[in-house]
Amino acid sequence: MPSNAASRPQNVTILGATGTIGLNTLDVIARHPGQYRVFALTANSRVAELAALCQQYQPRFAVMLDADAAENLQTLLAGSDTVVLSGLAGLEQVAAHPEVDVVMAAIVGAAGLKPAMAAAQAGKRILLANKETLVMAGSLFMQAVQAGGATLLPIDSEHNAIFQVMPPGRLAHLQDGGVRRILLTASGGPFRKASAEELKAVTPAQALNHPNWVMGPKITIDSATLMNKGLEVIEAHWLFNAPADKIEVVVHPQSVIHSMVEYVDGSVLAQLGNPDMRTPIAYGLAYPQRIDAGVGSLDLFKIARLDFEAPDSVRFPCLRLAFDVLKQGGTAPAILNAANEVAVDAFLKGAIGFQDIPRLIEGVLEASTITPVTSIAQLVEVDQQARLQAQEWRQLETC
Ligand code: NAD
Ligand code: MG
Repeated sequence: MPSNAASRPQNVTILGATGTIGLNTLDVIARHPGQYRVFALTANSRVAELAALCQQYQPRFAVMLDADAAENLQTLLAGSDTVVLSGLAGLEQVAAHPEVDVVMAAIVGAAGLKPAMAAAQAGKRILLANKETLVMAGSLFMQAVQAGGATLLPIDSEHNAIFQVMPPGRLAHLQDGGVRRILLTASGGPFRKASAEELKAVTPAQALNHPNWVMGPKITIDSATLMNKGLEVIEAHWLFNAPADKIEVVVHPQSVIHSMVEYVDGSVLAQLGNPDMRTPIAYGLAYPQRIDAGVGSLDLFKIARLDFEAPDSVRFPCLRLAFDVLKQGGTAPAILNAANEVAVDAFLKGAIGFQDIPRLIEGVLEASTITPVTSIAQLVEVDQQARLQAQEWRQLETC
């Protein structure tokens, strides 16, 4: 960060501004106009939404992934000072721009990898919501963060909670900080109590109805299959240097404890709060200070009780698959991630059933050759191949 950073508002780029995390980030920023300035906003294809946000926040840059959409945005913003860019190059440009201090990485899926890498290489303060970056390319991304001198702050509520209760030097090996294990909490999703038979008949509308969190469609389906927790186990592995056997998933239906860290002396530290993403976002923006996030007080008397259960990876095989690929290493997590993205998309379109999601992922993993990770270009190729294989599996299984 530049040396005069404290004396002027921080320039913030929001990758994925029209999404749930993007809009929550803008909500927090709007509460602190003297501290943060919206520098760039990006979106995939929702032109009207991005145009409205540009009119409200007057960013220096706006990026649409799609070139035609960028042209439409340009027309809608005629007469404004916002410069419109397009494509992956545009996303990378606003992630790495020399005047940017903070990058909120909130694109969904593998599409977020390259812009997040650009921010890491350029040494930005990265607020990482896009967990898929760490799932696909954890080793390369963490190396790029170090080499670029970037500051990495996890926004996923569980990882933000863990970060808050980790000892100083938290990104060093767990043992150095006296950490015995990480307790990663999970709501259990909308089908926590559903039987295997009931799970077969789950519809997209039912799966999109998360009990505690309002989120984009992909992560909401991931929460219903428990793949989200699986991806988060891999995310925690890279963020906190934690081996798979030091990460325990704890189902906690109230989503009040956002995760815990257990120390060798028996202490367990937890971070609690209302389930509202503005808390981790505000923590990331202001770290190590605290700012108002617009989140109300936790009403413990109303909550009254906190429950805990073990996860069931027989009814929810995605969790087991994620632990398996973490242990396998190499390109296995990137393959799982790509197959999952195809499977979730197919489920949302009504093309496959809920229980076909883990079957498809397992089918693609079994048909793939796992190799050591060498480069981002290799991972992008692996991602594409796994998507093709997932499409083939779909056609074979559904015809
Ligand atoms: P969302 O679907 O609401 O928004 C996604 C954003 O990404 C949109 O702005 C969209 O325009 C953009 N986008 C989509 N595809 C793109 C592409 N190919 N290229 C460029 N931009 C693209 O998703 P969300 O719920 O805000 O989640 C964003 C990320 O944050 C995900 O990785 C998710 O796992 C993570 N996350 C979300 C939450 C949450 O509460 N929503 C919590 C923890 C982590
Ligand atoms: Mg989470």
